[in-house]
Amino acid sequence: MNSPRFDPRSFRKKYAGVLGMGKSGRAAAKLLAKNGFRVLGSDARPRSEVKTASKGLPEKVKLEGGGHSDRLLECAFVVKSPGLKPDLPIFGKLAAKGIAVYSELEVALAFSKAKEIVAVTGTNGKSTTTQLTYEIFKIGLPRGRKAVLGGNIGVPVSATAPAAKAADALIIEASSYQLEDCAHFEPRAAAVLNITADHLDHHGSMATYVAAKAKIFRAQDADDVCVFNADDPLVFKLSRECPSQRLYFGTKGPHVHAWAENGRLMFKLPRWKKPVALLPPRLPGRHNLENALASGLLALARGIKSTAVQKAFKRFRGVEHRIEECGSARGVRCVNDSKATNVDSTLVALRAFEPVGKRILLILGGLHKGSPYTVLRPCLDRTVKGVLTIGAAARRIEEDLSGAVPIFPCGDLSTAVDTALRIAEKGDILLLSPACASFDQFKDFEDRGRRFKALIKAAAKAR
Ligand code: ADP
Repeated sequence: MNSPRFDPRSFRKKYAGVLGMGKSGRAAAKLLAKNGFRVLGSDARPRSEVKTASKGLPEKVKLEGGGHSDRLLECAFVVKSPGLKPDLPIFGKLAAKGIAVYSELEVALAFSKAKEIVAVTGTNGKSTTTQLTYEIFKIGLPRGRKAVLGGNIGVPVSATAPAAKAADALIIEASSYQLEDCAHFEPRAAAVLNITADHLDHHGSMATYVAAKAKIFRAQDADDVCVFNADDPLVFKLSRECPSQRLYFGTKGPHVHAWAENGRLMFKLPRWKKPVALLPPRLPGRHNLENALASGLLALARGIKSTAVQKAFKRFRGVEHRIEECGSARGVRCVNDSKATNVDSTLVALRAFEPVGKRILLILGGLHKGSPYTVLRPCLDRTVKGVLTIGAAARRIEEDLSGAVPIFPCGDLSTAVDTALRIAEKGDILLLSPACASFDQFKDFEDRGRRFKALIKAAAKAR
């Protein structure tokens, strides 16, 4: 999409379309209505469903369901919700009529006075890094300046950014869906954490997925910075295309500006004579050290003091559903990693527990996403005592892992928790890191994680 920069004042006709009335679409519709636009919110779901979900939106927002009609062709412009497939026929029709389509992110930012924008992207680790960066800015910004969180992390940018003041800092989690439709997004500081195959059903190819991620820095200039993972070959290669100042984290090498050494995180910006050494946050796994290195670099590059970074590292306890300690039941330590919706994330969790040895009872399963589970086999051997399967993918998992570890087909989460606590020995770890999406048995991964925690709580009380 190569439309000019979105400027709400440039439209004489105050009639806007919003495609996709999910969380972000609804927030964009509300924002536009508040700013004097009549809005047509259009969604593929049945109108009754869209209406229920859109309760409380202003009068000026009209709704249509069951697909995107030609009424959208009367709009002055259209906002596209993240995640909508770019090949929908409506986009062809809008293009033919010369109607500009903008991303929700860029529309939201056009209504915000805040200039200090910090954005994080990557296949994995976005939420953790964004949240930690937000905590650092909250502590480190001078009095009178606020940190404001938004994006893929659960609060649409349209809902938070417009209220920010000029001196406030916007900390944004930017997914590939949000970035793909951006042409002018220019964060002062950006980070690309890692890139592995994901969401290829949406983007069509790895090249398109990488191109979407690259939009986090495409519109930056030499006064901006972008943080890259030097150890990720794809990210490193991509960094060569970056027009802003490049900062790298990774295993120490000649060009790295942040690295881990003897239990400390070391930071050395190009203009510094000596590195500063900080204690890392108390989170499991090498991946979380990488997230902390990225957050630290973003903050330090934007002038936040290292003492504030250290304070935030000390306080940070991670994000819910990401290798989250959730107490113990019957002497078994329980960990909720419901956010692990793909095989890569489950591997990351297992690696984080490698130092503990073969003590894990692992709950796997849910909605199959297409990747084989066989890649888990070497790691299971070192860390996992038994696998408990649930959900629609159970059979596939059982086939892929047959012979590697004892497998207990359980069907649902409640049976899996019961079974695990029955067969566990004191000191074992019960880990929900399912490597699958949740939609077969739950509303979303949060619902799955909350259900797991409730089951653990109930089991702990029962004795
Ligand atoms: P995202 O928002 O990108 O999905 P999260 O911070 O929510 O990332 O983490 C999701 C899962 O991804 C975690 O449970 C963990 O298994 C894995 N993960 C987190 N950080 C990283 C990282 N830096 N590299 C690889 N995997 C990671």
